[in-house]
Amino acid sequence: MEGLEGTLAELRDTFRSGRTRSVAWRKSQLRGMIEFVQDNEERIFQALDQDVGKHPVEAYRDEVGVVAKSAKLSLSCVEKWMAPRKGDLPLVFFPASAQVMPEPFGVVLIMGSWNFPISLTLDPLIAAISAGNAVVLKPSELSPTCSSFLAENIPKYLDPKSIKVIEGGIDVCEQLLQQKWDKIFFTGSQRVGRIVMTAAAQHLTPVTLELGGKSPAIMDSSSNPTNMKVIAKRIVGAKWGSCSGQACIAIDYLLVEERFASDLIDLLAKTIKQFYGENPRESKSYCKIVNKNNFKRLLDLLKDPLVEASVAYGGSVDEEKMYIEPTILLNPPLDSQIMTEEIFGPLLPIITLDDIYESIDFISSRPKPLAIYAFTRDEKFKKQILSRTSSGSVTFNDTLLQFLCDSLPFGGVGQSGFGRYHGKYSFDTFSHEKAILQRGFFPELEPRYPPWNSFKLHF
Ligand code: NAD
Repeated sequence: MEGLEGTLAELRDTFRSGRTRSVAWRKSQLRGMIEFVQDNEERIFQALDQDVGKHPVEAYRDEVGVVAKSAKLSLSCVEKWMAPRKGDLPLVFFPASAQVMPEPFGVVLIMGSWNFPISLTLDPLIAAISAGNAVVLKPSELSPTCSSFLAENIPKYLDPKSIKVIEGGIDVCEQLLQQKWDKIFFTGSQRVGRIVMTAAAQHLTPVTLELGGKSPAIMDSSSNPTNMKVIAKRIVGAKWGSCSGQACIAIDYLLVEERFASDLIDLLAKTIKQFYGENPRESKSYCKIVNKNNFKRLLDLLKDPLVEASVAYGGSVDEEKMYIEPTILLNPPLDSQIMTEEIFGPLLPIITLDDIYESIDFISSRPKPLAIYAFTRDEKFKKQILSRTSSGSVTFNDTLLQFLCDSLPFGGVGQSGFGRYHGKYSFDTFSHEKAILQRGFFPELEPRYPPWNSFKLHF
């Protein structure tokens, strides 16, 4: 970190030179990114296995594939996205033309997260490059193998004068946050989100905060019983199938009518066994808990006596292997930490209601989630969910897939964050839209100047 000021000065000089603005530079970096993931697929799989025990198939789906898809989309669209857009003008402005021209912010800071240490670090980088920025990338220190892999290899594929990877822990983040950036893109917790925003405020730096929260799933009895097996797979997939629940859009808790709870638990248990075998501890498809702190945090949630008493399935742990069994809890107290804090791990509380319509008040009386999932065929219920709750996204009858749709903005609202990215939204997030007006000199409208009289200008 000794050379941080020097590094930033170099990036500012590079940016000011115009190097990162050309379409040729942006495309060459995007090609470099595609080559990086193609050449290093195996090594990325190994690093992800080392850090979080991710299976290569999951690693491809959630990391390598996401980055490759995003870089290819940006490569094919960047020229179109960069082009100034014509603006409409009222006739009274004639002769004139208006344009909206996207321009890069400048030198930006991206702070990545450990649960998807490749995709949630490189996807924002792709966005920043597409928009023509110079970048400091700070991978999470909690996924150290991926962090050092990125620091060692990104400079071999991307322009080292314009893109720097800086490794380190909290002290390094603190030093980075003291600097003046033109934009900060942060993925992480609400707690650190506040720290980032406070630091950014000192320089009036715009921020995007990709945070988390408690994302609920609603299971309505109107779901077709023949679809129940599919629904169970989608719920298990969204709770335990992506980094063992250590995902910002994982289902945090499940709402269901009381009369269906027992059947649902049986079905979920059967599906867990189908996915991970009788002993998920031995399964290669099940990720470990990232570190001791998170293991202990999850254990504390579970070991609250009233919460522990609510375990309906699972509950075993193995500290040496950083393993927590897929665990279902039935009606833990609503004021216990497991129901007031983001779980971010393989524990699934099921909360029962008399009538599934109560789920709307349940959700809307709590902080706005990043995602809401609802399994229902009831169109009236769907409309009420959409109009009476607020969340980053709503997905009906499936889970997680909203993350992969480039046409949908990805981001939170309220405490789950603000700003959005993916597809064209990513480019917009790292661009300032400059307004350009060009006029001719004739005719001149004298009533726009004093002295004022009773004549009114109508625009
Ligand atoms: P975190 O906020 O604890 O850490 C994120 C980064 O902040 C780390 O790199 C860390 O070095 C840095 N940091 C920690 N303390 C700091 C301090 N005092 N000052 C400055 N920097 C500091 O988050 P995490 O544990 O890495 O990730 C889990 C959280 O991230 C969850 O809340 C999850 O929902 C959220 N998340 C959100 C998304 C999304 O896309 N919305 C994706 C993944 C994770």
